[in-house]
Amino acid sequence: MGDAIPPHPGTRTGVSAVPSLKNRALERFPGTTDGIDRAIFLPLDGKKALWGERNSMSDKCITKVLIVGGGTAGWMTAAALSETLKGLALDIRLVESEAIGTVGVGESTIPHIRHFNTRLGINEADFLSRTQATFKLGIEFRDWGRLGDSYIHPFGAYGADPAAHEVELFHHLWTRAGAPESLEAWSLPVAMARRERFTHPSTDPASPLSGFSYAYQFDASLYAAYLRRYSEARGVVRTEGRIADVALHGETGFVTHVTLESGERIDADLVIDCSGFRGLVIEQAMKTGYHDWTRWLPCDRAVALPCEHGGLFPPATRATALKAGWAWRIPLQHRVGNGHVYCSAFLDDDAAETALMDQLEGAALAPPNRLRFLTGKRKLQWNRNCVAIGLSSGFLEPLESTSIHLIQAAIGYLLDLFPTGDWDPADAAEFNQTMDMEYERIRDFLVLHYHATTRDDSEFWNHCRTMTIPDSLAWKMELFRERGVVAAYEHGVFLHPSWVAVYVGQHVTPRRWDPRLDDLDPAAVRADLEGQRRRIAGLAERQPRHADVLGAARAAVMAEARA
Ligand SMILES: Cc1cc2nc3c(=O)[nH]c(=O)nc-3n(C[C@H](O)[C@H](O)[C@H](O)COP(=O)(O)OP(=O)(O)OC[C@H]3O[C@@H](n4cnc5c(N)ncnc54)[C@H](O)[C@@H]3O)c2cc1C
Repeated sequence: MGDAIPPHPGTRTGVSAVPSLKNRALERFPGTTDGIDRAIFLPLDGKKALWGERNSMSDKCITKVLIVGGGTAGWMTAAALSETLKGLALDIRLVESEAIGTVGVGESTIPHIRHFNTRLGINEADFLSRTQATFKLGIEFRDWGRLGDSYIHPFGAYGADPAAHEVELFHHLWTRAGAPESLEAWSLPVAMARRERFTHPSTDPASPLSGFSYAYQFDASLYAAYLRRYSEARGVVRTEGRIADVALHGETGFVTHVTLESGERIDADLVIDCSGFRGLVIEQAMKTGYHDWTRWLPCDRAVALPCEHGGLFPPATRATALKAGWAWRIPLQHRVGNGHVYCSAFLDDDAAETALMDQLEGAALAPPNRLRFLTGKRKLQWNRNCVAIGLSSGFLEPLESTSIHLIQAAIGYLLDLFPTGDWDPADAAEFNQTMDMEYERIRDFLVLHYHATTRDDSEFWNHCRTMTIPDSLAWKMELFRERGVVAAYEHGVFLHPSWVAVYVGQHVTPRRWDPRLDDLDPAAVRADLEGQRRRIAGLAERQPRHADVLGAARAAVMAEARA
């Protein structure tokens, strides 16, 4: 994920059984899931002065930004804009309606969220305690490839030596050694997650603790409230009320203003539509259109409900494949989030709710929240003077916790291309093209989970196993099956280790290894791998318990509050 972690400059020990690899190592590897500052939340710092100057020279400067909606998307956008664009002559207003409410789910993230928080200057311990957050080292997938399976997609590379050049070759080595046991035995984040242990990664690239990353699981409504306080402190003006009308300019089709049910009129130069699935501005007013991807991602409903903790406290989200979809388990500090995502063509709502209740580990803490969605994306996410962020821009289903990341990515690209009153069409074109790529690459990764299965115990899985998949994915899978090669790309969130985790975890295995390993002695490779496996297990065992790390963070916040 993200920028390359530079290869270690010197030679390294710890790969003694495979010394010849060093000379044949790849020059560059995408590294782990960390190193993820790239383009995800550009600070705009260098461009701010230039933007201000260009904007003020324009006939019609942008001075009024209206954010429609106060869910996670609305408040993340408000926080990022108010912090990044502070000092510029911009009024930022946010309208939300308590009567409509928010979607009320969205609690599991990927590591990029940390960089978002860091850019906002948010203190981690404070954030953890205010949002009841836990750490996340990956997602455990149960019963996906076949019934009884369990594998973790970790946020990190395989192998005990993260700085070694052969990270991209690790699964080839494993194949060369005859796949002695599950690949995940060579993942430190998996070893920690399985033992309910957690530590922060080391920033020293030579450390064995440097090859992984982590994300958070948090209470979405507390996160939105946290960002609301943050944004209001930076001048964002919040208006409570339901927008009854969106007015478009007769010639340009640009939004000129919105009118609330109270009759209040709010003018806007730039509108950011964070109104959720309804797409109040981008769709209901502008009729932008939608690319429907249900032929590849067929789930279209969910039922969600929190419950009391049953005791398990792994730093990981769990996704268990069921008969016509899958169930999530997200452990927070104060409760567990649960949900069942399913396909209405194969399961009715009551049966889905019963299947979810059967999975609960403790007493339910709220009534079930039933949701409907259509997987896909808006044809344009930036249309005239409206930019859709969050569920209004599209939804790919929550399997790999990518929606909040897509919010963050959209905010980053918007800041990078922030429009002036001239409304250069190239800005919108670039934004739309980049977001299309982000969406399509995540889509392919998600489709892989459904399609790469041997399950034939239900109509749903028969459908997923035999459905036609996007060409862009078919080609990637063939490349991996043939020679174990992971298709590389510049944009797109899931890189090498993530694809390997899901391919191997769901039994898409390479027919042959990289030919550069042909002359290695398989017994020597096996012995080397065994040493690495033991080192990883030992290291994981020595890390603190996840619950204790959270307890220490809580204690630090309380001590600071008392001081
Ligand atoms: C089943 C499910 C599970 C999910 N799990 C995850 C996950 O684990 N990880 C992840 O990253 N994402 C997940 N997501 C996605 C995540 O929930 C959303 O990306 C996130 O919550 C952002 O939602 P939003 O702010 O776009 O929309 P919403 O939360 O729906 O907010 C919409 C806002 O618009 C306002 N609004 C709407 N109409 C009007 C109007 N007429 N006038 C005034 N205000 C209006 C509402 O009041 C509300 O404030 C999940 C989604 C679903 C459906």
